[in-house]
Amino acid sequence: MNKITSDNSINIIGAGFAGLAAGIYAQMNGYRSQVFEMHDLPGGLCTSWMRKGYTIDCCIHWLVGSSPESSMHDLWEEVGITQRRQFINMNEYYRLEGPDGRTLTFYTDVDRLEKHLLEFSPQDVEPIKEFITGIRMCLAFDQPSRHTPLPKRLAKQFKLILSFIRNGKKMQKWMQIRSRDFANRFKDPLLKKGFEEMWIPEFSMLFMLFTFAYLHSKNAGYPLGGSMPMSKALEERYKALGGIIHYNNRVDKILTGSDKAIGIRLENGTEHFCSRVISAADGYSTIFRMLDGKYADEKIRSIYDKWLPFPPLIFAGIGVNRTFTDVLPSVSGFSFQLKEPVEIGKEKRDRLHVHLYNHDTSMAPPGKTVLTTMIMTDYESWKRLAEDKSAYLNKKDEIANKLIELLEQRFPGITSQIEMIDIATPMTFERYTANWKGSFEGWLITPENAGVLMKPMSQSLPGLANFYMCGQWVEPGGGLPTGIMSGRRLIKRLCREDRKKFRTTAH
Ligand SMILES: Cc1cc2nc3c(=O)[nH]c(=O)nc-3n(C[C@H](O)[C@H](O)[C@H](O)COP(=O)(O)OP(=O)(O)OC[C@H]3O[C@@H](n4cnc5c(N)ncnc54)[C@H](O)[C@@H]3O)c2cc1C
Repeated sequence: MNKITSDNSINIIGAGFAGLAAGIYAQMNGYRSQVFEMHDLPGGLCTSWMRKGYTIDCCIHWLVGSSPESSMHDLWEEVGITQRRQFINMNEYYRLEGPDGRTLTFYTDVDRLEKHLLEFSPQDVEPIKEFITGIRMCLAFDQPSRHTPLPKRLAKQFKLILSFIRNGKKMQKWMQIRSRDFANRFKDPLLKKGFEEMWIPEFSMLFMLFTFAYLHSKNAGYPLGGSMPMSKALEERYKALGGIIHYNNRVDKILTGSDKAIGIRLENGTEHFCSRVISAADGYSTIFRMLDGKYADEKIRSIYDKWLPFPPLIFAGIGVNRTFTDVLPSVSGFSFQLKEPVEIGKEKRDRLHVHLYNHDTSMAPPGKTVLTTMIMTDYESWKRLAEDKSAYLNKKDEIANKLIELLEQRFPGITSQIEMIDIATPMTFERYTANWKGSFEGWLITPENAGVLMKPMSQSLPGLANFYMCGQWVEPGGGLPTGIMSGRRLIKRLCREDRKKFRTTAH
């Protein structure tokens, strides 16, 4: 095959945050990039859709880097996300309504949170104090923005280095604690439930501490307008820099010759040659389908055998012809006790999580509200069910009806006000983003793979030159900031390989 290209062309697979970020930084640095995206929209998992006038937002709850004082904000400026966008910071992260009329609130202000938790459950003083001390420890760990005046920036950086020296061991300890295990330390059943529900049970506690630290610093705000406007802003920035996106173009194979990536073949059979290929698509399909597993050594196979991805979800969007002025906005919503346990998504549960979008009026027509609920489920049973289309659709209807019945327990009369209900399943996530097993955020960070925080995963594959990966499958923990940092880190590396200075521009 004599198709090897040795110019500065890059083909990028996937127009999620990581793929578009790689494209943006590639364009800033003089590369000629094109993005091939299987869907007809930008953003990948950072998405929303409209049903009967309601917007169902399937991603953003909080964006780390929303504060102009943070270094992550500089990156959001580079990729065109923070400009003309308004962020709001809520007082509550999550709320649990107990069976006994008690309400447990996870406030975003750490001092208020400490006071409330101690009042709520004095018997749990020890784990509460540890949790709060952990959050306070993480407060010092944000790099200052480049716009911070020099003396203040130097002082902040000095504090950060000091914190690393002082707290390195403590951070490692928190890394090793799963939120499920930490939850088990609480005696009060609702507090225990809170720690189990708020987070993925297998996820390392360190990330919960950091999230609360960012929320306290007002550096994890909610962007009004939600997910899709951010994805469109990223697309706009990429195109303004000269990037080209080919939508409705699913990549089938990554073409190789003499152990070098030389291009891609689309599902429609066309081939596109280039000097480098970046996959910002799902890791499993990239390594085991697009490259037929040829460049997966034992280490990579063992990752895909052993590491845990974020679980797949049943994600319901519900449009209601009413407002909820009596329910305070919160970053991740609230949960309430059900009259009796019900089985949804394989597991019996005695509480239902609800997220009301009464903090963002753009999500619903005036006087109406959209609410969502996220329920963790498994992949395999949905995969089997989807083989029989009518059984699959019936299951979705059954879940929709069950959810309405359950919401009626908390909001009597809501049934007659519901105008729209839409159920996304792991199959929906797979169909629209190709993420492995319908996962919604790539790899979890658990005690087993915590080492990646010290030594990041490789962005290339052994034995294959001119090929790279970025995004949530090479950056455990996932998330939108990680996607941007991942694309940026990769282009920085290409610049190093090409012996040129990495450049960025803000606009
Ligand atoms: C319900 C939910 C809530 C979330 N909340 C937050 C939050 O509050 N804050 C936060 O920071 N993050 C949040 N996330 C996580 C965040 O959305 C993801 O981690 C991030 O968007 C992943 O970006 P990515 O570019 O790595 O991957 P993806 O978004 O998965 O992008 C991959 C892209 O590749 C495309 N693709 C795949 N295969 C192919 C192929 N063969 N050919 C062409 N294109 C292909 C896909 O269509 C997709 O566009 C949330 C996610 C969900 C679902």
